[in-house]
Amino acid sequence: KFNFSAGPAALPEAVLKQAQAELLDWHGEGLSIMEMSHRSAEYIGVAAQAEQDLRELMQIPDNYKVLFLQGGATAQFAMVPMNLLRGATSADYINTGVWSGKAIKEAQRYTQVNIAASTEGNSFTSAPAQSELVLNPEAAYLHYTTNETIGGVEFDYIPDAGDVPLVADMSSDILSAPVDVSRFGLIYAGAQKNIGPAGLTVVIVREDLIGSTLAGTPTMYDYKVHADADSMNNTPPTFGWYLAGLVFQWLKQQGGLEAIAAQNRRKAGKLYAAIDGSDFYANPVAVANRSIMNVPFTLADSRLDARFLELAEAEGLLNLKGHRSVGGMRASIYNAVPEAAVDALIDFMQRFEKEQA
Ligand code: PLP
Repeated sequence: KFNFSAGPAALPEAVLKQAQAELLDWHGEGLSIMEMSHRSAEYIGVAAQAEQDLRELMQIPDNYKVLFLQGGATAQFAMVPMNLLRGATSADYINTGVWSGKAIKEAQRYTQVNIAASTEGNSFTSAPAQSELVLNPEAAYLHYTTNETIGGVEFDYIPDAGDVPLVADMSSDILSAPVDVSRFGLIYAGAQKNIGPAGLTVVIVREDLIGSTLAGTPTMYDYKVHADADSMNNTPPTFGWYLAGLVFQWLKQQGGLEAIAAQNRRKAGKLYAAIDGSDFYANPVAVANRSIMNVPFTLADSRLDARFLELAEAEGLLNLKGHRSVGGMRASIYNAVPEAAVDALIDFMQRFEKEQA
């Protein structure tokens, strides 16, 4: 079966098999990794290796901390302003859809939010161009969502905010392609798409940005606390961290992010070509901003949606229903979704369309 879920999403089968093989007895220790103290030398080794592999994969510069936290990307919507305002009175946000909208709403609890650009006018079917951004040089930071998981809109460039730190929610496209980390002040991502199971949140933050929080910030919302404790101020999500480590090793075995990006572009390219090549399926997103991770599409007649989903599921093509806020279909084709899954989906779509003729 092929899993097109937006998240929690497909994990590499090889990773799941390895986790299964060592589930009850990790490396001959006679216990599961889940049962091990996070303070044990063995677990600290697992955690450190995962961080090192992620650093290698993303070529994270030394002046960045990598944090393995809980609370999901949603907690970051608050943690970012709590830590990064540092005396400033406003922050800039780009609004490109549901997820950036939620980040904006949360930030408004802590500061004045200036909308540097919004694509609400075209129903969030594109990303704004650099020339359309209205940036405030006094802003604490500029926040944007690199890939809108629901709308299937992905930035095709990294915004330039001058000296203002750039903050990115990369929950749904982290590790899908190489990215120049040095362009960012902070990157965060919920794990449950390209990193591992839900329950883990990865934050990559430039060291000079941390250490000053809003009054009243809970200890667990202070990046410095986590950075100083190697993300072990309290019990970290040990199993998720371990599994993320296996995913990072798998990615390295695939040839790293260049190789996985080529594969992702090929997968997305053929799916969009199939959609564009038919009068029956449609995707509304501007071509330059079409996500290589989440491909939403509609059928010519939405009354056929239920039938499409039913037949797809019968063929083992799972979780193709679009988000409840937009309807239609959505195929999430993260790193772990094999090209064969995309081929099977396209084949099914073409047969379904013929049957309707
Ligand atoms: N940001 C984006 C782009 C997402 O896709 C999601 C969830 O799917 C979130 C934030 C929220 O993540 P979490 O559920 O980890 O809080």
